[in-house]
Amino acid sequence: MGPAVARTIDGMTETHTQNRTDASTRPLAGRVAFVTGASSGIGEAVARQLADAGALVAAVARRADRLADLGDGVTPVPVDVTDPQAVAAAVERVVDELGPPDLVVASAGVMLPSDVEDTRLDLWQRTIDVNLTGIAATLAATVPHLIAAAAEGRTADLVLVSSVGDRLAFPGYAFYSASKAAVTKLCHDLHLDLAPFGVRTLNLRPGLVASELQTNVTDAGRREALLQWLEEITALEPDDVAGPLVAALSLPRHVCISELTIVPTAQVDSL
Ligand code: NDP
Repeated sequence: MGPAVARTIDGMTETHTQNRTDASTRPLAGRVAFVTGASSGIGEAVARQLADAGALVAAVARRADRLADLGDGVTPVPVDVTDPQAVAAAVERVVDELGPPDLVVASAGVMLPSDVEDTRLDLWQRTIDVNLTGIAATLAATVPHLIAAAAEGRTADLVLVSSVGDRLAFPGYAFYSASKAAVTKLCHDLHLDLAPFGVRTLNLRPGLVASELQTNVTDAGRREALLQWLEEITALEPDDVAGPLVAALSLPRHVCISELTIVPTAQVDSL
């Protein structure tokens, strides 16, 4: 494309060139995205990059203050994803204010390691509530909109954020890894259910990404080990994950990247 040349020709060519520029720089213009876990880390980076790509973005998490400044095109939607009724009400608000969502990214998650000698049912319950019930609540409220969008001939996407922990074992992280294995299986099987409607599914499997997921680990020993590992292997930044995801979502609607594994180059045991 040569914008300088196009400008010298005539108005029509200039407009045509501009449209092509919009398509390449704002490939998600006209899309409405619902992104959970958008107050930090991967979800925040995804929300920002989707907005940069032209989508109207509903940014979902509990901390309203952290959702307030995500930039143009991002609307804060403070909600706890473990409360299905609250999620349903939030989606209704998004439909009224932005339009029905046709792109859903479920990134909200927690990682709560514990010692095997001290089985912590409270941590198990919290893991299931956020990492699985949170996704189920998001699905219940948004999938009808995805199916409706696809029925109208528009692109519709469901992204679940799993982890390389779905297949790998990390001592002390069994509850977390089991929840992520469930997310991967859920996304795989939802592909079978949703593809006939024309809805794409993408299971995102990041390796180690520097975020609050590690700093929120309450076990001091495991937290320090994680922070050291982050440095040793040059962990990914959230934008390193958001970029390829947004690129995958920008592909033509008949192209479905059903699984995307993104790891630090030095994370050798990750596949
Ligand atoms: P962060 O801790 O930075 O982000 C977690 C997000 O989840 C926050 O926005 C948090 O917002 C939100 N969240 C947690 N509980 C709830 C809740 N009850 N209701 C609504 N939102 C909630 O972690 P990451 O960005 O790193 O993690 C995002 C996803 O990526 C997670 O699913 C994680 O398992 C996965 N992942 C992360 C990896 C990593 O190395 N960082 C590797 C592989 C996968 P708030 O507290 O404001 O509610």
